[in-house]
Amino acid sequence: MPAPKTLAVDFDGVIHAYVSPWTRPEEIHDPPVPGALTFLNLARERFEVVICSVRAETPEGREAIRTWLIEHIGNPEAGAWFRITHEKPKAVVYLDDRAWQFAGTFPSLDAIDAFRPWNRRG
Ligand SMILES: [Mg+2]
Repeated sequence: MPAPKTLAVDFDGVIHAYVSPWTRPEEIHDPPVPGALTFLNLARERFEVVICSVRAETPEGREAIRTWLIEHIGNPEAGAWFRITHEKPKAVVYLDDRAWQFAGTFPSLDAIDAFRPWNRRG
């Protein structure tokens, strides 16, 4: 069987709701985005899911993400289900609230400047 494809999933704004202001990498204040845990559970059956976050730059930040996942998924084993990294991994898709899908045409700099993540619009 071939190795599963890798799906890279951003943490803040995709898994973690991230509606409270940023404080420290190891302080994760908000609940999951609705549907995030169900999605992760299904996705890990089919892909190697790598969770990406600047929080993971330090061991404390990585541990905070693991603890948050265990608490919200409600299973102590969930801490070992995902690779957690602050670096961009090799992946077939990057699921990210701050991504701009490039399809051959460069966006204007004004469009980039005006970009807001889905939960910070309007
Ligand atoms: Mg994000």
